Amino acid sequence: INLNVRSQWEPFERALRVQLEHRWQATPLVDGQVLAGEVHEVCSPQDLDRVVGTVWFAGVELVGQAMERLAAAWPRWNATPVEQRAAILERLADLLEEHRAELVALCILEAGKTIQDSLDEVREAVDFCRYYARQARLGLGRTELRGPTGERNELFYEGRGLFVCISPWNFPLAIYLGQIAAALVAGNCVLAKPAEQTSLIAARALDLLFAAGLPKEAIAFLPGDGPALGAACCADPHLAGVCFTGSTDTARLINRRLAWRDGPLVTLIAETGGQNVMIVDSTALPEQVVKDALHSAFTSAGQRCSALRVLYLQNEIAGAVIGLLRGAMAELLVGLPQRRDSDVGPLIDAQARQALLEHVDTLKGEGRLLAEASLPAGLSGHFLAPVAFEIGGIGELRKEHFGPILHVVRYAAEELEQVVAAINASGYGLTLGVHSRNEATARRIEALARVGNLYINRNQIGAVVGVQPFGGCGLSGTGPKAGGPNYLLRFVHERSTAINTAAVG
Ligand code: NAD
Repeated sequence: INLNVRSQWEPFERALRVQLEHRWQATPLVDGQVLAGEVHEVCSPQDLDRVVGTVWFAGVELVGQAMERLAAAWPRWNATPVEQRAAILERLADLLEEHRAELVALCILEAGKTIQDSLDEVREAVDFCRYYARQARLGLGRTELRGPTGERNELFYEGRGLFVCISPWNFPLAIYLGQIAAALVAGNCVLAKPAEQTSLIAARALDLLFAAGLPKEAIAFLPGDGPALGAACCADPHLAGVCFTGSTDTARLINRRLAWRDGPLVTLIAETGGQNVMIVDSTALPEQVVKDALHSAFTSAGQRCSALRVLYLQNEIAGAVIGLLRGAMAELLVGLPQRRDSDVGPLIDAQARQALLEHVDTLKGEGRLLAEASLPAGLSGHFLAPVAFEIGGIGELRKEHFGPILHVVRYAAEELEQVVAAINASGYGLTLGVHSRNEATARRIEALARVGNLYINRNQIGAVVGVQPFGGCGLSGTGPKAGGPNYLLRFVHERSTAINTAAVG
């Protein structure tokens, strides 16, 4: 099992070596002006002695100032033709490709992503920019609707106003830029609040956005503490929308704050956590199942919202799959993310590792260990070896365990509908994998399961922009799906005008 695609890395690695020596900086920016903040040093999650750069955390008082400036700038940005806004995103995509080596180095150093993950991250950011540019051109123009003779009816779109974009650390470039790109191209001004752990990547991406031609007044950048800045943003009277990706708990908190504010109603687009399952029936191919399960559970050290958490195995195939799983997990290489042979890099920080270790210790204490990868000596970062446990059912998991932990459950053929009911009862609805060579079984599961993204006989991570629009329901998010044809519509105010043409002439 190999989680990486190692072809054509060599020229890229040469460029990377130069970038690894660089020191980056992120500062609050309003109207293009650098503002003061509390200085934080950023250490790499893979090597705690390596300082990657410094971030100036914005104080809450900057939120009001930023929103005032954005509100003043909004009418001009909103009146900028869609064509021009889309062209900026396309130039940004070109610049991201041009600066790929530097961005990959940053993803490795600040977010602890492997080379392959980092390359995928940059590619996805590029895809989001090009896709939303194209969708804006196609869908945000003025259209005429047929009505009675003597009347002209038009439908058109404009930005809602000011969007706050709050992003997670696990896709520090792709989701961060995907949110911003969608909000901007739809005609909104943006306050960007990156995750505390990945502000350097976010700041560098913003430089490129300005280089692509975005007017400085159209965006403010406030790195810093999520709860404090988030509360100030939610209370601000200029706010028109929040685009959030992160944990379900944080989304709930934001939702509550928005519900109790005075003034106009605010749009909330939230993409949140998952409790993702793969169901394997007795007709599946065990080798394929293990390959896809490992890829889905342990890529990015399991730190993906789409990652496989619970593998349901029909009794008849469970022994064969578990046997192969043990062998394959023993071969997984945990190591520094910039090394070619590393399959699994570090976790994002000590807090994340501690929370996962508590879960691992509990399950080990209960004698549920099924398989484990080994942790090489001498690593100083936040590493955790991938591990698999056997449990009784998804109902035993109280929350999302955001790391390389796989839970395995056996089930009998006649229990299939109960299995799907238990998955639905978890309340999450993000990804679901099915491995079966019986199409009727796969379609039955499709009909019963309430999830956003279903994957049949393949791995269940890695949604391709424009091909597999991504997002869940219930505790997993509000929709619409990112990278899908309807995404931009949540960012716009839809308007119509009816004209009595006889009177106008
Ligand atoms: P998080 O909720 O801790 O943080 C996400 C963002 O919210 C950060 O920018 C943080 O600073 C900010 N924040 C924290 N508290 C806030 C508050 N009270 N008000 C406003 N903002 C606040 O999540 P995380 O640990 O950064 O990311 C991991 C989570 O994100 C996982 O649950 C994962 O499943 C989810 N995720 C979901 C998707 C998806 O598309 N569904 C994609 C990636 C990650």
